[in-house]
Amino acid sequence: MNSIEPDSAVYRTLLESTKAIPWKIDWATATFAYIGPQIEQLLGWRQTSWGTVNDWAERMHPDDRDRVVNFCVSQSQSGVDHEADYRALTANGEYVWIRDVVHVVRDEAGNVESLIGFMFDITERKKTEEALLTLQKELEELSFRDGLTGVANRRKFSMVFDDEWNEARRNVQPLSLIMFDVDHFKRYNDHYGHIEGDDCLKRVAQALSSVATRSRDFFARYGGEEFVLLLPTTDEAAAKAVAERCRQAVFKAQIPHADSPVGQLLTVSMGVGTVIPSAGDDPMRFVSGVDARLFQAKRGGRDRIELGAA
Ligand code: GH3
Ligand code: MG
Ligand code: MG
Repeated sequence: MNSIEPDSAVYRTLLESTKAIPWKIDWATATFAYIGPQIEQLLGWRQTSWGTVNDWAERMHPDDRDRVVNFCVSQSQSGVDHEADYRALTANGEYVWIRDVVHVVRDEAGNVESLIGFMFDITERKKTEEALLTLQKELEELSFRDGLTGVANRRKFSMVFDDEWNEARRNVQPLSLIMFDVDHFKRYNDHYGHIEGDDCLKRVAQALSSVATRSRDFFARYGGEEFVLLLPTTDEAAAKAVAERCRQAVFKAQIPHADSPVGQLLTVSMGVGTVIPSAGDDPMRFVSGVDARLFQAKRGGRDRIELGAA
């Protein structure tokens, strides 16, 4: 005989003064044997309105209901303690995030007799989690963007390029790549200053990125004053046409370059390549080939597009 065991009044006071809401369900009848009065403060439904497990299931967000009910029923049937997060409906039509922690009580024969548990209000925690998730997405998005020009960066290009290479290979479709390099940009910086140089890169990025408009066309800053444009399902003739439009776009931007040996305006050189990738092809060799063409365009006098064999 344990003389310091509290009586049931003490238990009740303890249970009903916590923030967690205690409850008990009789397994055979699927009815609430008990639910703490705190439930009314949290959800607005009267304590006496919790009759059967249906009341519990129906006061759950429809998007959570099947998942949670099926999970809890199957766990309970197999006699496993469990917990579930879901949105509970309040009497005035709002939702509160609940974590329900459930203990399965069995009789001496091992059959499920009842479920007892606690509901915790985790709305604030969920809000913090959601805010963190949003922040994480924003950070990820930022990590794929070039800080100066706002276009995609090389990291993102590598990922998109890999995906498009595989896609082109699978579908036996041509994949084209244009690589750009601003002509005599060192002279530009030396002549106008680095700040003007930055501004110039922004304008070039804006001009070039507005040229290709198909949904999978992908433009990125590849490095300092180098950019790339990836053109899925685009053959060489179409890629050449896009490259010419790019040259036009830079011309239309009318960026003065007083110290350029090419002319009075800023120009770019381009290398263009097209591939229908097959199993033995190396994507990096393809990029190097296009880069080699860009180099040829430089050697050939700049402000030009190089397509031929590298
Ligand atoms: P070429 O016609 O052969 O391409 O000559 P170039 O002067 O453009 O080539 P080079 O590679 O010698 O110089 C590139 C210059 O681009 C040097 C570098 O300081 C400048 N640059 C790279 N990134 C930035 C940037 O973010 N802002 C500015 N303002 N300049 C940059
Ligand atoms: Mg360069
Ligand atoms: Mg350059």
